Amino acid sequence: MSVNDKSYRQHGDGYAPDRRGNSTDRRRRKEWLLLVHGNGTSCPCTHCGRRLTFRTLEVDRITPGGSYARDNIQPACRRCNAQRSDNPRWLSPLAAAALNQ
Ligand SMILES: [Zn+2]
Repeated sequence: MSVNDKSYRQHGDGYAPDRRGNSTDRRRRKEWLLLVHGNGTSCPCTHCGRRLTFRTLEVDRITPGGSYARDNIQPACRRCNAQRSDNPRWLSPLAAAALNQ
């Protein structure tokens, strides 16, 4: 067992943008969503418009069960993320409001 084995596993070529990843990957993903969808500190939930911060934002995959690549993720609040789960027919609060107009 070489001394470098552990560090290789932690910092080697393990970064895969399509996987959930480690805590650093997840933090960077949330920061990216806050920046792209908001002002870097907060952004609206994709589904209901509720204001999200780093603490409350959840990374929602556009194609459920798909990759965590940046073209497949959007910001969601815990409630919408849980309700939507992997139900492709779930109607978001914003979509429902648009239909009623
Ligand atoms: Zn929401």
